[in-house]
Amino acid sequence: MVEALEKLVESLSRLPTIGKKSAWRLAIHLMERPREEVDTLAENLKNIKTSITICKECFNYSEQDICPICSSQSRDTGVLCIVEKPMDVFTFENAGRYKGLYHVLGGVLSPINGITAEKLHIRELLARIDRRKPCEVIIGLGAGADAETTSLYLARLLEKYDITITRLARGLPAGMELEYVDQLTLAQALNERTSIPYGEKTS
Ligand SMILES: [Zn+2]
Repeated sequence: MVEALEKLVESLSRLPTIGKKSAWRLAIHLMERPREEVDTLAENLKNIKTSITICKECFNYSEQDICPICSSQSRDTGVLCIVEKPMDVFTFENAGRYKGLYHVLGGVLSPINGITAEKLHIRELLARIDRRKPCEVIIGLGAGADAETTSLYLARLLEKYDITITRLARGLPAGMELEYVDQLTLAQALNERTSIPYGEKTS
């Protein structure tokens, strides 16, 4: 066997959704591509670890201290959407309807896995709301049990602010993470978002 190829297969098969067979297929495909194309891929791979940092404002990935979305003049700074992870920002942007800003929590509460409020960017969220005073905060978490608990936790926490708190319309497939929701369903859930009534906030 060719050691260099096997090493590549080993690396590729660590990627999500890539099994051993797909890894071999990819490795052999790369082997057969022109040198420049493979160099570019290698370069791009390296760059994600050297040139990407975390936006100081929203905690999404960024090449600058403040990401292009946070520093854009054309976004609606009065609306802040709380999401679980950077992938969700991509999902929302891809759905194409949302023009406000984001706040990436860095996970959802999961006591069983040791993920407490202190481990998420919640303190920074509150500081940001104090500082930027948005008029609406959308809780844009998925439909899993932990996401649900986190949504209620956040709703309660945000009650004291004079802002509209909304959440994505129900109808997201139960238990599903946002990244697996199709564009249309997400756009619809966003369009039909509901403000959180007092009864739900305190239940
Ligand atoms: Zn940002």
